[in-house]
Amino acid sequence: MSLDPETRKLMEKLLLRGERMLGETCPVCGTPLFLIKELGLRFCPKCKRYVIKSEEEYEKALAAGIKPADMIIVGFKPKELKGEERVPERRTSKTSKEGARSQGYPPQIEELLDEVVRLVREGKFEEARVVAEIISILCSCFKRRLFSYCMRILVLACGASGLLYTDTLLKVLKDTEHTVELMYSPNVMEVAKHEGINVSSRHSLVDIVHHYSLSAPPCSGSYKIDVTIAMPCSVKTMCSAAYGIVGDPISRALFVSLKERRRTVVVFRETPMTISMVECIRNLLLEGAIVSPASPGFYLNIKTIDEAVRFFVQRVLDRAGIKIDVFRRRGDSSQQI
Ligand SMILES: [Zn+2]
Repeated sequence: MSLDPETRKLMEKLLLRGERMLGETCPVCGTPLFLIKELGLRFCPKCKRYVIKSEEEYEKALAAGIKPADMIIVGFKPKELKGEERVPERRTSKTSKEGARSQGYPPQIEELLDEVVRLVREGKFEEARVVAEIISILCSCFKRRLFSYCMRILVLACGASGLLYTDTLLKVLKDTEHTVELMYSPNVMEVAKHEGINVSSRHSLVDIVHHYSLSAPPCSGSYKIDVTIAMPCSVKTMCSAAYGIVGDPISRALFVSLKERRRTVVVFRETPMTISMVECIRNLLLEGAIVSPASPGFYLNIKTIDEAVRFFVQRVLDRAGIKIDVFRRRGDSSQQI
């Protein structure tokens, strides 16, 4: 696939803006698609059109004021537009409201937007300008608040059995607003062969894949990370970090997370345990880490391995303070999400 300079420039712009490049490609031109966070829609930087794959996305796009001509519709047929009325209806009276709602702004901003429209209609341009300025200030405050919820999550994968947990975690985190960073040891490749997982194909699930090197940013305390999840964590890494004997990048990154007092979740699978392992776990607990053996519960009518893995990943997310629901909980009458 060759990229013309204009597309390349637009892609750079999108990346700088923090938009995420997806593993999917455009059905028309084959260019990688971007997820436009504010709209929750896929965008092709070459066709300069939104790729719409469901009725729900179609509605969302219309609500954001995107014309059908600017959409590439794949895999479904949108309900026939009734003459000319449907699109203009949304674009006049509802555009501001729906647009604000689609971007997750609070209802007060929607009301102010209506106020601006009313003032402009009445010819009170100066008053409309003042209200618009207030909206702009409110939106930037709200965006800052939204931004503070976005975490940088470092996932460390060691050469231990249990990559299915890592795989599921990365897939779950992929479509969240969080920045997900991955570092894995060379031994992971060997384990992955036995567990039927293609590690390279998982690179597209994360925002950053760090080199396995002591000079990689997560090995430094000044690099900003909010949450570290070591899953699966090998006994070697666990013990190295617990005693601060950190000769390799993964142990070093885990150790840095402990010393910086970041939220750290360590998942190990090795069983049965030795006294030295128990001592290491004790040290990690004293350092503030959450140590969790990879042992899913089976009390939620779990029938498949996938369910057991999702159950456990849900528990890891909870412990890491990442608010996502990927599996039913006790007391939850609904089916699996
Ligand atoms: Zn395209």
